[in-house]
Amino acid sequence: MKRIVVLGAGFAGLWSAIGAVRKLDELGVARDEVEVVVVNKTAFHSIRVRNYEEQLEDTIVPLPDVLDPVGVRWIEGEVCDIDVNGKAIMIDTGDGRLSLPFDRLVFAMGSKLARPPIEGLGSYAFDVDTYDGAKRLEAHLAGLSSIQAPGRYTVLVIGAGLTGVEIAAELPARLRELIGEGGSGDIRVILADRSSVIAQAMGEAQPVIVHALATLGVEMMPAFQLRAIDEQGAILASGERIFASTVIWCGGMHAHPMTDRFAVAHDQLGRLPVDPFLRVVGATDIFAAGDAASLLIDGRHETMMSCQHGRPMGRFAGHNVVCDLLGLDMLALRIDWYSTVLDLGPWGAVYTFGWDRKLVAQGMAAKSVKQRINRERIYPPRTGRKADLFNAARPVVDDPPKFAGASGAGLAKAEQGVEPQ
Ligand SMILES: Cc1cc2nc3c(=O)[nH]c(=O)nc-3n(C[C@H](O)[C@H](O)[C@H](O)COP(=O)(O)OP(=O)(O)OC[C@H]3O[C@@H](n4cnc5c(N)ncnc54)[C@H](O)[C@@H]3O)c2cc1C
Repeated sequence: MKRIVVLGAGFAGLWSAIGAVRKLDELGVARDEVEVVVVNKTAFHSIRVRNYEEQLEDTIVPLPDVLDPVGVRWIEGEVCDIDVNGKAIMIDTGDGRLSLPFDRLVFAMGSKLARPPIEGLGSYAFDVDTYDGAKRLEAHLAGLSSIQAPGRYTVLVIGAGLTGVEIAAELPARLRELIGEGGSGDIRVILADRSSVIAQAMGEAQPVIVHALATLGVEMMPAFQLRAIDEQGAILASGERIFASTVIWCGGMHAHPMTDRFAVAHDQLGRLPVDPFLRVVGATDIFAAGDAASLLIDGRHETMMSCQHGRPMGRFAGHNVVCDLLGLDMLALRIDWYSTVLDLGPWGAVYTFGWDRKLVAQGMAAKSVKQRINRERIYPPRTGRKADLFNAARPVVDDPPKFAGASGAGLAKAEQGVEPQ
């Protein structure tokens, strides 16, 4: 029996695994001829992009619900090593260590929040990088009223990339709800960034974001020079202190550290370079997808660490790993469009199109798209039906998210950038 092992069951890994069994099914290959096994740290698929939201319960999808109906074997455990030459994975299952040989591997263990060596960052900062991190923040915010400290109701969000903006925009209303009208006058939400402009990578959406944050009452601190974090808040390079019982670190993402097991050239984010078939360039029998991989997605731009790219990369990696194993032709992945839909809390959202981020919709028109993406589009079908899961795992490229209610001009502008798939 041959074995395909998929590491990680996030957006890339889940779809790699389902994509692989879909292809085996189509070819009529029995599971005792080729087995597909997924290894994931948790027994659930996390809709990680929703970790900034208040309601987290619906952001996890139990793996048996989506893998059992299609016959993917899954192991809950932490991958602790990879023997690339010996073609085996070492897994810590909690009950002991397991060695799992593979014939083909799909590396899809994603990314982790970058944590530079800033004093106190590891001990005192919260994050929304993982479900556990978001739950920890939730518990902390719920207990704020029992804290006696200056800055009790101050939240300092450090890093004004997409994640920092999304959590900062949510927080004023979330804190008001938690604390009640009595303490709401003490609420301060600060979004700080070392760059001189908040959300500077957001192209035409940048002024919209600044306007929305100001309307929501978020204070913005560009050119922020952090020295240390402690239990009282942050200390700046100037020596100034910001009292904040909650500091949330949103300082960017880096590919999973285990990408270092592969002796290939990594990019500046630690990602593995892959060809359009999702094969790791410079390695044999190894595929990679999602945040851990970097692909020139349209021949010119590298993939973003995003579920927008991670999901199709997963579907194509799953299809191709089977074809590679069985000596069949593979399919190249190419996507000629790119969009960003950023949540701006109760203010709405902003939708940009293209790599230069042209503004096409904002406010509630964009919010409805964001909600559809976060609550429907990026979820695996939860019908428990094999046919639905296989249909969603086909190696095809989706259209950009559509929106109703936006002006015709905005929609036309969005679609100008879309070339036929
Ligand atoms: C708050 C937030 C908001 C975001 N918003 C957006 C957005 O609006 N749009 C967008 O496109 N992207 C967004 N992203 C980015 C997006 O979440 C990632 O790009 C995406 O999750 C990458 O998918 P992945 O499968 O590569 O990695 P992940 O989704 O991180 O999955 C990796 C999987 O590997 C598992 N794993 C890791 N280490 C091990 C180990 N040692 N052993 C076993 N299993 C392991 C993890 O448990 C996880 O299941 C956001 C991210 C965050 C944190």
